[in-house]
Amino acid sequence: MRHIAIIGSGPAGYYTAEAAQKHFAKDDHEDVRVDIFDMLPVPYGLIRFGVAPDHQSIKGVSRRYEKVALTDNVRFVGNVCIGKDITIPELQELYDAVVLATGAPNDKQMGIAGEDKANVFGSAAFVGWYNGHPEFAELAPDLSGKNAVVIGMGNVALDVARILSKTEEEFAGADIVAHALDALREANPETITIVGRRGPHQIMMTPKELGELGALERASPRVDSDDLPEEAEDALLEPGMRKSVNHLRNFAAITEDEHAQKPIAVHFDMFASPTEIIGDGKASALRVERTKVETGRAVGTGEFYDIPADLVVACIGYRSSPIPGVPFDERMGRFANDEGRILTGIYCVGWARRGPSGTIGTNRPDGYSVVDLIAEDVSNGTLGRANKQGRDGFDALANERGLDVVTFQDWKKIEEAETAAARKGAPREKFVNVESMIGAVS
Ligand code: NAP
Repeated sequence: MRHIAIIGSGPAGYYTAEAAQKHFAKDDHEDVRVDIFDMLPVPYGLIRFGVAPDHQSIKGVSRRYEKVALTDNVRFVGNVCIGKDITIPELQELYDAVVLATGAPNDKQMGIAGEDKANVFGSAAFVGWYNGHPEFAELAPDLSGKNAVVIGMGNVALDVARILSKTEEEFAGADIVAHALDALREANPETITIVGRRGPHQIMMTPKELGELGALERASPRVDSDDLPEEAEDALLEPGMRKSVNHLRNFAAITEDEHAQKPIAVHFDMFASPTEIIGDGKASALRVERTKVETGRAVGTGEFYDIPADLVVACIGYRSSPIPGVPFDERMGRFANDEGRILTGIYCVGWARRGPSGTIGTNRPDGYSVVDLIAEDVSNGTLGRANKQGRDGFDALANERGLDVVTFQDWKKIEEAETAAARKGAPREKFVNVESMIGAVS
């Protein structure tokens, strides 16, 4: 019997568990037991707290993870914080392999003056707030201003701009948490400016997500046609990117009369690199330097201007959280690893391995390849003999330490309570703090 501890119950964690199950179930292999740890009492990580609340079809992938979770050789061990309740060396004593699937939960910093002013947030915090992450439930962004700025030209920037733009009716069927819906209901934005330091051919936005911005009830996307390269140059782009740029071209063709029918203007301000957040304690504007793109890089031109900004949300990427004793690549913001191997018996997968890129599905091959590494290390003897205690050992330790472990069956009770509390048409009303999640179990 081999024992695997996976730290993190998001997509990378569950795909790794699924892969381990499939691999070790083959006749010529030892059996396997997988424990998936999460510091929160609820599973699914990014699916619950990162994927936009109005993208329920994407969240539906959790049903696949549930199938894995409900098998005998995989279990969810929630409400256990690695590094506090149990250390990595202790896990290594108990399990043959420890896989870090901890994602990239922290905001990358812009490193500009004024970043610490009030009403300036990173997307981890802001998205966590509207998705009910307990760490950010109290964020209380002030949405009363007329002008919001969203920095970055990726899908997270699109999520944030879209959430700020939607009417209450457009949130029908979404699991946006009540505190965010209440705040958005009171908000009355006039402009939302999406700021990109490079141009249309360098955006990271995917076509489907960009297309959604063109179909909002009360918001109209505005692209300056002067920012667009010659149409013939689009031929050099890969097909998905060409579709995205085509959306920008369509936005640029929207007439003033059409714009006038919608009260919110979503401006794309490209070739603009943030240099400072202006404001007396609280943000009032974003200063940017006009750029030009040279061999793919944004180069400053020395021309500066200010974009009014009562709210700033920087959607510029994420970093993983280091764990004491585990080598960390500070520059890349992820664990130092060789294709998933960190140290003997310690592996990483998903965003913790490669950084915050790709779709949810990208984590599937990642999960399968880390299991291949583990299997290789089992068969070449690197992981030693099969004599670890696995979950029995963990249970004894959890008992000794009085840990309040949340099981998958407990989670199902939390889920049931959230479903029962849902407003009309919504799939659930999430608990936004750990105490109420635990309360629903008992
Ligand atoms: P992303 O796709 O990497 O985009 C980050 C953006 O931030 C880029 O435009 C980047 O510009 C810009 N940026 C980085 N540092 C900057 C700085 N210092 N100043 C100004 N701009 C800066 O990251 P993301 O939007 O956070 O998304 C993360 C991953 O999740 C992506 O793979 C994304 O596709 C995925 N995701 C998918 C969906 C979906 O499918 N619906 C939804 C959300 C997220 P440069 O290119 O110039 O560096």
